[in-house]
Amino acid sequence: MSPVIHGNGYKKNSINSDAWAMLEIAHREGIETVWDRLAKQQPQCGYCNLGTSCRICSMGPCRVDPFGDGPQKGVCGADADIIVARNLARAIAAGASAHSDHGRDILETLHIVGEGKSNVYKVSEPEKLRALAVEYGVDADGKSDQELAKELAWEMMEDYGMRRKKLPLASRAPQMRQETWEKTGTYPRGVDRENVEVLHRTHMGVDNDWVNILLHAVRTALSDGWGGSMIATELSDVLFGLPKPVSSHVNLGVLRSDSVNIVLHGHNPMLSEVIVAASQDPELVALAKEKGAQGINLAGLCCTGNEVLMRKGIPMAGNHLMQELCIMTGAVELMIVDYQCIMPAVTETAKCYHTKVISTFDKAKFPGAEHISFDPGRGLEIGKQIVRKAIENFSNRVPERVHIPVEPVPMMAGFSVEAILGALGGTPQPLVDAIVAGQIRGAVGIVGCNNPKIKQDLGHTELTKRLIENDILVVVTGCAAVADGKAGLMVPEAADLAGPGLGSVCKALGIPPVLHLGSCVDNTRILVLAAALANHLGVDISALPLAGAAPEWYSEKAVSIGTYVVASGIYTVLGTAPPIFGSLNIVKLLTEGLEDVFGATFAVEPDPNRAATLIRRHIERKRASLGLSAIDPESIAMPEAELTFV
Ligand code: SF4
Ligand code: SF4
Repeated sequence: MSPVIHGNGYKKNSINSDAWAMLEIAHREGIETVWDRLAKQQPQCGYCNLGTSCRICSMGPCRVDPFGDGPQKGVCGADADIIVARNLARAIAAGASAHSDHGRDILETLHIVGEGKSNVYKVSEPEKLRALAVEYGVDADGKSDQELAKELAWEMMEDYGMRRKKLPLASRAPQMRQETWEKTGTYPRGVDRENVEVLHRTHMGVDNDWVNILLHAVRTALSDGWGGSMIATELSDVLFGLPKPVSSHVNLGVLRSDSVNIVLHGHNPMLSEVIVAASQDPELVALAKEKGAQGINLAGLCCTGNEVLMRKGIPMAGNHLMQELCIMTGAVELMIVDYQCIMPAVTETAKCYHTKVISTFDKAKFPGAEHISFDPGRGLEIGKQIVRKAIENFSNRVPERVHIPVEPVPMMAGFSVEAILGALGGTPQPLVDAIVAGQIRGAVGIVGCNNPKIKQDLGHTELTKRLIENDILVVVTGCAAVADGKAGLMVPEAADLAGPGLGSVCKALGIPPVLHLGSCVDNTRILVLAAALANHLGVDISALPLAGAAPEWYSEKAVSIGTYVVASGIYTVLGTAPPIFGSLNIVKLLTEGLEDVFGATFAVEPDPNRAATLIRRHIERKRASLGLSAIDPESIAMPEAELTFV
């Protein structure tokens, strides 16, 4: 490998001392990282950044030059508007497909449970299963959990087919929102149908009306938010348990020098659930001790980590940009990967250490990894087989190369909607009262990834701090949650960092001012909470003092999430710029025009302090429209830009 530490050194890459320590090792030992590869890609393609390159057909590839003297049209005649719209729609479909296919895997597992063919999974939340059955019109009376699981699974499989006119879970949205979707032809019908239709429409010579393409892209994103992702979240709760507030720890300090360390990376909780069970098997614990370890230590990465943190309190080693650095501790016996956000680079990094990488889903294989095909019917058996491999690898560890650089930071997680409402006494009214009284000005969901183009975690943590100190409740998911956890913002004591109103509410309830709602598919918990608040007040979601933000997003899944959040009526600020700036028509539509259609727009602002001002102004405008006490939005000063893209 030939590393090039880009920029002015590794402290520019991350705000975290655990990342700095590992980057120093990478530099010393010549191990390449994501930042080196980003540097080697410079300058990245300007056409692709603007979204005006197209390689949909083999008359191309084409590039159009909307602001210069170059070609204005591709070979087929597509202009910048068409090309940008098609590219954006395809990105949304890829993200929606990823989430929804994850949902399908969980749904198939529910079906296996219903057929009595699993040796490890069961219905863990019968009440939630029965509530879902009611929503799907399945008669639950007199049926066992197993019978009901099978029947509900059959019914939900229709969500992926073409017989539906409307996805049933979308009826959780307020009536006014559903009418907006009806009027605009964006009410999601079937998960697979909307995704396939994007691919059809964006084939050369099909849909060439850029507004029409984008409206269907919205429908596709909604089939993710109110369909595939929501199925993933709801059924994960049914099978693996409803998250409840739980205390744990975060950062590379959660790895243990005296234990067999297994890192769980990816998104799907099916396998990680059985790994948790297998790691407690007395025979395997005894084997670990026999090999000289104190025990078996599990740690999470990315959203598989979030899933087991939310439900089991398993500590979190880090977020997206920590996946290579985690291996460089020299303390990881095994990294188990399922799918999504796993860089192919991890197997290269692992070659520099004793770490084994095991891939587990047949749809996600990695050169350099050992593949053990996961079969939910034989879950526990496979889980034990994998944990045994980790234990056997412990003796290959090189103690002199073990470097766990920091102490772990405590954090709380487990705030499902049910847990939040439970803490409020079973109704959103206390939260509404605090908002009406102005103690809490509003609420913001900060979600999404790390992106090496932005200093790791800076966007998430600075935005969060600015919002909570101005009495805005923050809910987080995905890698944003891990960032705020590392920064110490997710413990009850962080109420001291909040403004007086939010701080006093948090202290009264014993909760942090930043609530962990889960993984990326769990952004649907934000939708459900927003819908519950809106329904409680008899207004549309777009009337509420809410906003979303994805300060460091990188993934197509985040494009889908941002789109369904805006189409659900929530103003959303992106930190990294989407590739749309080659079409000023589309920029205008997404940042202004959507307001009249969906009651919400996108904004793009990489500087978190400026993003906080945009959001605060938006929240105060919404408060004023609801007749609540409001600060004049223009009196909230816009700071000078300090952070720009790397
Ligand atoms: S679809 Fe049109 S713009 Fe795209 S590659 Fe083919 S000819 Fe070029
Ligand atoms: S937040 Fe982004 S990087 Fe992190 S796990 Fe989710 S999609 Fe992947």
